[in-house]
Amino acid sequence: MAVLVTGGAGYIGSHTVIQLLNSGEEVIIVDDLSNSSIKVLDRIEELSCKKPKFYKVNILNEEKFEEIFKENKIESIIHFAGFKAVGESVEKPLAYYTNNLISTLIILNIMKKYQINNFVFSSSATVYGDPKSCPILENFPLSTTNPYGTTKLMIENMLKDICNADKKLNVAILRYFNPVGAHESGRIGEEPNGIPNNLMPYITKVAIGKLEILSIFGNDYPTHDGTGVRDYIHVEDLANGHLKALDKIRTNSGLVIYNLGTGKGYSVLDMVKAFSKACGKNIPYKIVKRRAGDIAMCYADSSKARKELGWEAKYDLDRMCEDSWRWQKNNPNGYEN
Ligand code: NAD
Ligand code: UDP
Repeated sequence: MAVLVTGGAGYIGSHTVIQLLNSGEEVIIVDDLSNSSIKVLDRIEELSCKKPKFYKVNILNEEKFEEIFKENKIESIIHFAGFKAVGESVEKPLAYYTNNLISTLIILNIMKKYQINNFVFSSSATVYGDPKSCPILENFPLSTTNPYGTTKLMIENMLKDICNADKKLNVAILRYFNPVGAHESGRIGEEPNGIPNNLMPYITKVAIGKLEILSIFGNDYPTHDGTGVRDYIHVEDLANGHLKALDKIRTNSGLVIYNLGTGKGYSVLDMVKAFSKACGKNIPYKIVKRRAGDIAMCYADSSKARKELGWEAKYDLDRMCEDSWRWQKNNPNGYEN
């Protein structure tokens, strides 16, 4: 019986696939490669000494997607596939609602048809909107400020309703904080298309000389140095959270929701400092005005995941920066080297 990983060629998916393979799981990847490279598959094989079955299929192509279920015995699904750029979602909301919502509905309907009950969903701390305080607990009020976040919240609500109606379903919603870092080998990592929107990939591109200077979006927030504070979590820790969540839902029915963060908040300037130390270079930056929609502070209380999953983030900020830098330095053109 296999675990189907949608979006398994992507950033978080590829790291999770390696951990699943290393723990003895049979893995099948489905990915349309709209935001990833086919070369990831060779690297997954190189790092795990196993070759997972791969389907280059867009989930929205329901007929082709269903073929996977006819050809394989699937026991659980980890659903990473989706569009994830906040700014782009404001410009192209329809594309985001279509890809994120419809693909999830297709999967849930197929799960019902093939009697698959285990489902792990990639949600995001963005569903907390502008939180009333930090650290953030799972029962904080939910709201969103952009179409990407709304797709995540809508899917969470769908999952709650579906689990209420069908007691056989076992679902884990994982709310990620800010994933950074890369596999310690430097062979897989994050490779955003075009100019990165997120802080860490932007810093790594400045360090490698592909971008000139980091713009820091505001230094007048009510934080320890005025710049925005976030909970950065190593992608390997995040990946491990999926294995723990899978263990949990295999033995526990119903819906569970967990924050996956370190519980520590670092500012943009803290990140610049830590990354400079890791790469041995100064990261030039300038302060510019706030980015629309940004919040001052966001970090997790992950004690629920610690208690109920036995999961805890173990990599610190220095290690996150070292691994991000190794990946960028060894692969200045991403997977196109
Ligand atoms: P990613 O873009 O690297 O991976 C997503 C993968 O899904 C890509 O390989 C893409 O080609 C594939 N894909 C997209 N639409 C598809 C479709 N219709 N059919 C088949 N494949 C499709 O993103 P990631 O950073 O690995 O994020 C994984 C998940 O985690 C996403 O759902 C994202 O919203 C969520 N998430 C990410 C972050 C983050 O900062 N990276 C934070 C919170 C939540
Ligand atoms: N940020 C920044 N410059 C950039 C990208 C991000 O100053 O080029 C800041 C942003 O304002 C926020 C933090 O870095 O305070 C993290 O931003 P990111 O987009 O990585 O994550 P998110 O805002 O989605 O949590």
